[in-house]
Amino acid sequence: MADYLTGSMPVTERLYYSDSHLIEFEARVVDVTDRVSGWTAIVLNRTAFYPTGGGQPSDTGTLAGLRVVECIDDGDRGVLHVVQGVTPALDSIVRGRVDWPRRLDHMQQHTGQHILSQAFVTLFNAPTRGFRVLQTSCEIDVELAEPTTEQIERAVELANNVIWEDRAITIRNVTSSEAAELSLRKEPSREGELRLIEIDGFDLTPCGGTHAYRTGEIGVIVVRSWERAKGLTRIDFVAGTRALADYRKANGSAREVAALFSSGRDDIPPLAAQILEENKELHRRVRLLEEIAAEVEAQKLLSSAREIVPKGEPSAVAGGARLVTHVFDARDAESLKKLAQALIANPGTIALLASRDKDTARLVFARSADAAGDMNALMREACTMLDGRGGGRPDLAQGGGKQVARLDEIMQAMESRLVG
Ligand SMILES: [Zn+2]
Repeated sequence: MADYLTGSMPVTERLYYSDSHLIEFEARVVDVTDRVSGWTAIVLNRTAFYPTGGGQPSDTGTLAGLRVVECIDDGDRGVLHVVQGVTPALDSIVRGRVDWPRRLDHMQQHTGQHILSQAFVTLFNAPTRGFRVLQTSCEIDVELAEPTTEQIERAVELANNVIWEDRAITIRNVTSSEAAELSLRKEPSREGELRLIEIDGFDLTPCGGTHAYRTGEIGVIVVRSWERAKGLTRIDFVAGTRALADYRKANGSAREVAALFSSGRDDIPPLAAQILEENKELHRRVRLLEEIAAEVEAQKLLSSAREIVPKGEPSAVAGGARLVTHVFDARDAESLKKLAQALIANPGTIALLASRDKDTARLVFARSADAAGDMNALMREACTMLDGRGGGRPDLAQGGGKQVARLDEIMQAMESRLVG
C-alpha cells in the first residue's frame, strides 16, 4: 500500500474530467497491488483512463509499456489500472496512453445517449431510467408506453438535428444548492459538488463520463429496434462509428437477400411476402397431393397384402384380414400416418408401417374399425424393443426409437403376434 508515503489514501486526479480528448499523459505510481492469478492493479496520482461506470465501459490502452485491460473506479482510493507483466516500481514516473478509437466510440455512444434521452423528454416528457453501452449497440430504458414508429422516428430526427447543428458541449462544476436552482434532466445521484454536462441550449445533466467537445463529433444516431421491458420501453440504438458499422452490416444483409431475388435492395419486402404466400399455397397443394398419392400407394400395397387369420378374438371380418407390413427409408411421421389411414379406410385391414432414418426408427400401427388387434399394446411392445417411446389408441398408434438396426427383426416379431 502507498499510504505510508503520504500517510493518507492515494487520490487519483482524473484528467478525463477536464479533457475527454487527452490520450497521452505522465503520472507517478502511488500504489501497486497484486490481484488474482498474475494480474496487478496500479494506482497513479493522475490518469486519463476512464474507469467502468455510469453505463460506460472502461478505457483500455498502455501504461509503462504494459497493456491496460480494464480500469476500475475504487472511489476515494483512486482508479485501478489492471495490467499483467513486470510492473513499474512504486513512485516511478510512467507514461500512459489511452486507446483512442475505443474512447471515441464510447464518447459517441455516451454523448449520443444524452441527446437521445433529452429528445424523448422534449417531445414526450419521457425520462430515461437506464443506459448501457453493449458490445456493438447501446440501450436506453425510456418511460414511454408502447411508442409508435412515428414517435421513435421523431425523437431520432430531433437528436440528429442537434448533432448536425454542431452545438458546443461544456462542463460546469456547481454546488448542490446551485444545482437545485437549475433545470436538470436527471436528479443528481450524489451530494456535494456536481459536474454538469451542458449541450448548448438543449440539455443539462449531472454526469461523470467522457463527452464529445461538440455534438457534430457524434456524427449520426439511429434506433435499430425497441421492445417492452420491465414496464419501460427498451430502445436499441447506435451512434457514430457504430452507426456506420451497423449500416454496412444491414446493407450487406439486405443486398445478399436482394441477390437471391435478383432484385433491387429496396424491392425485397413485397417480394419476400409474395414468396411466403406462395410457399403456404404450395404446402396446401403438397398436402392434398400426398393424400392422393397415399391412396394410390395404399391400393398397391393392398394388392400384395398377406391374408391372415388373426390370433385371439375372432375377427369381425369373415375369412380373416389383410396384413400390410412395410419398412420405408427416410419417410416422415406425417406421411407414414397418412398412408396408414389410407390403408385402413379399406375394411379388414391391418397396417404395420415403419421408416428407417440415420439414427431413428418411426412406427405407425393401424387397423380398420372392423379388424381385430390392439395396436396400442403392440406399439408399446415394439417401442420397448426399439429403446424408444410410443402409444395411442387400439386402432391407431405411433412411436419410434433408436435401435434402427433391429427394426426388421422387431417388425417380424410384431407380425407374428397378429398371425394365428
Ligand atoms: Zn455523460
